[in-house]
Amino acid sequence: MDTTTLLPDCLLRARLQNLTDVYRKADQAAAAFASSAGLGCPFGCGDCCEGFMPDILPLEAAMVALEIAVRDRPLAHRLAAETLAAQTHPDGRQGCPLYTVDTPYHCSVYQARPLICRMFPFATVRDKLGQVAFSPCRLMPAGLPDLPTEVSLPPVMADFGYRLLMIDPDRSNQRQSLHQLLPGALSEVLFLIGLDNDHSPDSNDPGFTPLPQRHP
Ligand code: SF4
Ligand code: SF4
Repeated sequence: MDTTTLLPDCLLRARLQNLTDVYRKADQAAAAFASSAGLGCPFGCGDCCEGFMPDILPLEAAMVALEIAVRDRPLAHRLAAETLAAQTHPDGRQGCPLYTVDTPYHCSVYQARPLICRMFPFATVRDKLGQVAFSPCRLMPAGLPDLPTEVSLPPVMADFGYRLLMIDPDRSNQRQSLHQLLPGALSEVLFLIGLDNDHSPDSNDPGFTPLPQRHP
């Protein structure tokens, strides 16, 4: 589902559509590498989310916020008004508040998850000197040293990260933890949804705020 259609025609909607395109290409690149390398996550594993809080851009937070607003409007309103905290697991690790144990991929916003969550196990990172390096997740059954030489090179995560920065350059220096950005992103998205004048003034949608009508 294209969640951006819930927004009125605005700059954020256009930018989220561009972000969707970058995410799609990142997914394709990661999947192509994983397939050729024979790498994959064991079914049901979500270990990486249990002790990890992603640092993301405001535009990525808006995508997550829109996904929540589409699926559960009351939850979106509640989270917009809260200070989000990391989720603490029984073993003491603290991780992403959007982790859920009850879904196959353990992510409650899987379709809208940020770039790092899409590419982490199937992409290289670039160090301060610009060198790229790939380390398969320790929980994966195979590692690069055993892979055949014809395996395609993993995509470089930073290359996709730069594309994200170019979509929303004004906020390119506002990267923060997901739990810090999400309440503000939810407020922004819910406000824009509420501006949609295509809704009936009688709408029961809790996200709808009727605009004052201009009388001739
Ligand atoms: S990247 Fe590693 S920890 Fe995360 S789901 Fe895959 S195998 Fe599990
Ligand atoms: S957004 Fe989803 S995939 Fe990313 S860390 Fe949170 S639960 Fe995991």
